[in-house]
Formats: sequence, structure tokens, C-alpha cells
Amino acid sequence: MWGYPEPLARVIEQFMKLPGIGPKTAARLAFHVMSMEETDVLAFAKALQDVKTQLTECSICCNVTEASPCAICQDPRRDKLVICVVQEPKDVMAMERTHEYHGTYHVLHGAISPMEGIGPQDIRIKELVVRVGEGDIDEVILATNPNVEGEATAMYISRLLKPFHVKITRIAHGLPVGGDLEYADEVTLAKALEGRRAL
Ligand SMILES: [Zn+2]
Repeated sequence: MWGYPEPLARVIEQFMKLPGIGPKTAARLAFHVMSMEETDVLAFAKALQDVKTQLTECSICCNVTEASPCAICQDPRRDKLVICVVQEPKDVMAMERTHEYHGTYHVLHGAISPMEGIGPQDIRIKELVVRVGEGDIDEVILATNPNVEGEATAMYISRLLKPFHVKITRIAHGLPVGGDLEYADEVTLAKALEGRRAL
């Protein structure tokens, strides 16, 4: 491929699987890897492997964790009556950075997107419904992203959870519309959480 020696071409191909990496950047990265010390390259490869083999999903909140249930679900100081629903594990980290939230989470691993062929059954909505059905839950905070998919997902979940008579809230706007939760600064995110409204 492209006249590169085969092992190098394979590294380029792998880098191109990453988001935002085109052929030029992939080639630059591959050449960089070639110039690295072998021990560093092996550590790099091992880290990539470990992220798949040493992480699992929390049996309660579906967040990625080394041990299930995760540290947050196991923490006796967290308010188990409140669940904050987010799209991705990185959104949990964004919420945690605010230091304003002391409940638990539920990670959907995506959002409903008919355009991309992602339906409710493709993300962890069923697990949330089971959890709300089984538990003593006071409030479910829908903190999906403030874009079309995030809004559609929040609406879908709020309808599904109606029969459980649990308080359902949506984080306030003030978050940049069309943006991702993870890019919101801590103050904006904390304000959005504080200004959540009932659905
Ligand atoms: Zn958990």
C-alpha cells in the first residue's frame, strides 16, 4: 500500500482507524513510532491492549471500570437515589470534575440517532429501565448532550420512565447547543446541573 514497506503500511492503516486521522497524519505517526525506543513502543502496544482486556462495564451503571461494581457505585457517600444519565464514560469524568454532583450515573454508550442507524436497543436504555424499576430512585437527571441526538434520547427515556413515578429532570441549557458535555467547562456544567428542570 502506497509503496510503504508492509509493516509500516499496516501501522498507517491502524492509525487511520482513529477519529480525525487521515493518511498524512497516520504516516507521520507511523514514522514517529518507528523512531521510538522499542521498550516505549511495546509499552504503547500493551497500554492499547490493556484498555480492552482490563476494563469491563459496571454491572450497575454501565460505566467502564477495572472492577464491577465501579468505585462510584460502591462508594457509600454517593446518593444512590439519584441517577445522572450520560452518553459516554468521558461525560462521567466531566461531571466529576464539577465536584457538584454526589449521586450515581448511568452510561448509555451512545445516543439514539436514526441517521446513523442507532436505535434505543443499541444503547444501554434497557439497563436503566430495569434499574429504575428495581430500585428506590428519587430522581433521574438526563444529562445527554445538548444536540439533536441527545435531546431525542432524553425525550425517549423520559417517556419510558413516566410509569415509574420518579422525578425526571433535564440539565439546563446554557451549555453550548450542538456541543458535547465533555467540552463544557466545570462552571457551565455545574450551572447546567443546578438549573435542571422537571420533564
Ligand atoms: Zn457503576
